[in-house]
Amino acid sequence: DAGSVSFNKPLAEFTTWKIGGPADVLIIPETEEQLVAVVRLLHKHGLQWTNLGRGSNLLISDKGIRGVVLQLGEGFDYARFDGTFVHAGAAYSLIKLSVLTAREGLTGLEFAGGIPASVGGAVYMNAGAHGSDVSRIFKSADIVLETGELVRFDAEQMEFSYRHSCLHERQGIVVRAVFELGQGDRKEITATTSAYKQRRLLTQPLTLACAGSVFRNPPNDFAARLIEASGLKGLRQGGAEISTLHANFIVNTGQATAEDVLTLMATIKSTVQQNFGIELVAEVYV
Ligand code: FAD
Repeated sequence: DAGSVSFNKPLAEFTTWKIGGPADVLIIPETEEQLVAVVRLLHKHGLQWTNLGRGSNLLISDKGIRGVVLQLGEGFDYARFDGTFVHAGAAYSLIKLSVLTAREGLTGLEFAGGIPASVGGAVYMNAGAHGSDVSRIFKSADIVLETGELVRFDAEQMEFSYRHSCLHERQGIVVRAVFELGQGDRKEITATTSAYKQRRLLTQPLTLACAGSVFRNPPNDFAARLIEASGLKGLRQGGAEISTLHANFIVNTGQATAEDVLTLMATIKSTVQQNFGIELVAEVYV
């Protein structure tokens, strides 16, 4: 019993970019027992797999993903409080967690109110904004390793740095995380969250399909500034467009393919390199 299993499953609907071909096999385990059984079976056959969270930082190829894709199901979609600690399943929405903790008068997740991540995806890449990130509030995560063993990782073991954790170097799937928040003033927390939200609404193309910032900010500069100064805002390729609102966002105007987005990314990289001698590095996973 593995949960829900589908073959040749189109993945575009599973990503915020609404782009991507099919997974050979998409498995959605609903319980930890099912997940461990699937991972053990894959391990027994020497097979790797790909984790899929809420698909908000992924450019999935038009050809799709070969092999097995794992996405955590309903049994991993929960959050509960224990004083100033919050325990969240890896499928839980980070935005919901930000709202929920604000309501409880707990401070620390204000930065996350506009990041459409799953808790697992946010831990994987140490998601962050407004001068903070996951590592600041992280206590521990339970991770199923490729052998099927469930191991608790503390903050040090996660080796967090800018949009990075140790999971980039090893196969494993986060199943839940514990965050340690501070006791705060509900009104102040809500005011901060609203101010961040307002700023995003004014500066990001949030009504269009996108995946947030496409490139990392280089040291002491902003990718968006470099792209805008290169005159690339509004450039189109097929159905993809460099956002006229935020130059580091590429939006899907309706029928964009992964190839369209990759072409725009290549143009951005070479133009910025030519104009400023700076090599931009992708923040989205291609
Ligand atoms: P996915 O995109 O599904 O996957 C991303 C990576 O995480 C993949 O490598 C995947 O294999 C891995 N992964 C997913 N789930 C797990 C798991 N359970 N265990 C182990 N690995 C896993 N990001 C920021 O950091 N800051 C921002 O301010 C920000 N703003 C955004 C605004 C918009 C409008 C959008 C669309 C995106 C934005 N992002 C931002 C990007 C994105 O939301 C984050 O990178 C987020 O952490 C990705 O989480 P996800 O669940 O969608 O992961």
